[in-house]
Amino acid sequence: MTASIETLLPPTRLLKELHRIENALGRKRDIHWGPRSIDLDILLFNHDNIEEEKLSVPHPELPKRLFVLAPLMDIASHLIVPGINRSVTELYQSLKKEKGVQLWKRNNGEGEFGLFEN
Ligand code: ADP
Ligand code: MG
Repeated sequence: MTASIETLLPPTRLLKELHRIENALGRKRDIHWGPRSIDLDILLFNHDNIEEEKLSVPHPELPKRLFVLAPLMDIASHLIVPGINRSVTELYQSLKKEKGVQLWKRNNGEGEFGLFEN
């Protein structure tokens, strides 16, 4: 899932706030890049390029993750990703040829998940 937000927080403060929310939701870092209950990342921040010790924006994995580009298509398909200078649509289309991603949804009220039919 991607979301577009407005904030008065500068980028590093926003990252801290995201970590606070992850912790409040009970995230545990057992395996790096392994399965986790929640992962809140900053994909883009205005059109900024940020290279700090604990924060890289645009998110370095953005062009490689179809599961991020697919929901980003829903809210920002025409956006040009700074640094790469390619649109979200271009990145999505080129990665889609290599990788598949399927949309999931809760399909009944009892916690069972199923493939989204579209
Ligand atoms: P993932 O890269 O899969 O999100 P983690 O959530 O474990 O992995 O993040 C590891 C570290 O990545 C964080 O502690 C954070 O300091 C750093 N990081 C660098 N850039 C970003 C970004 N744009 N958004 C979120 N975290 C970032
Ligand atoms: Mg993260």
